[in-house]
Amino acid sequence: MTRCIALIAHDQKKDDMADFANRHQSVLAQWRIVATGTTGGRIQATCPNLDVTRLKSGPLGGDQQIGAMIATGEVDMLIFFVDPLTSMPHDVDVKALMRLATVYDIPMALNRATAEILMTTHTP
Ligand code: PGA
Repeated sequence: MTRCIALIAHDQKKDDMADFANRHQSVLAQWRIVATGTTGGRIQATCPNLDVTRLKSGPLGGDQQIGAMIATGEVDMLIFFVDPLTSMPHDVDVKALMRLATVYDIPMALNRATAEILMTTHTP
C-alpha cells in the first residue's frame, strides 16, 4: 500500500510550501498526499498533476483530522511548515498534532531545512 505524507503550512509559510512541493513534485507523486484545506489548494494550484486529498482547513479541524490519521496509522510522515511568529486560534490543535506525531514516532519536519532532508532520506 502506498504510504501517506501529510502536508501543512501556516499562512506565512504557504509560499514556501508551494515552492517545496513544486521542487519535489516527482518524489511527492510517489506518496499518497493529504493536506489541510488551504495548504492543499495551494499545492494543487502549483502542482496540478499531484493528487492531493484536502481535509478541513487547519483552524476548522484539519490539524485534528491529520492527528487522527496518524493515530490510526494512515499517515506515515508529516511535513508541517509552522509560523512561530504569529499567534493562532488553533494553537492547541497544532500542539496536539505534534504530540501525536511524537507518540506514534513518525518522521516530522517542522521547517523547510528538515523537510529537505526527509525528502532525500525517506521514500514511500
Ligand atoms: P490550512 O490549515 O492549510 O487550511 O491553512 C493549516 C493550519 O493553519 O493549520
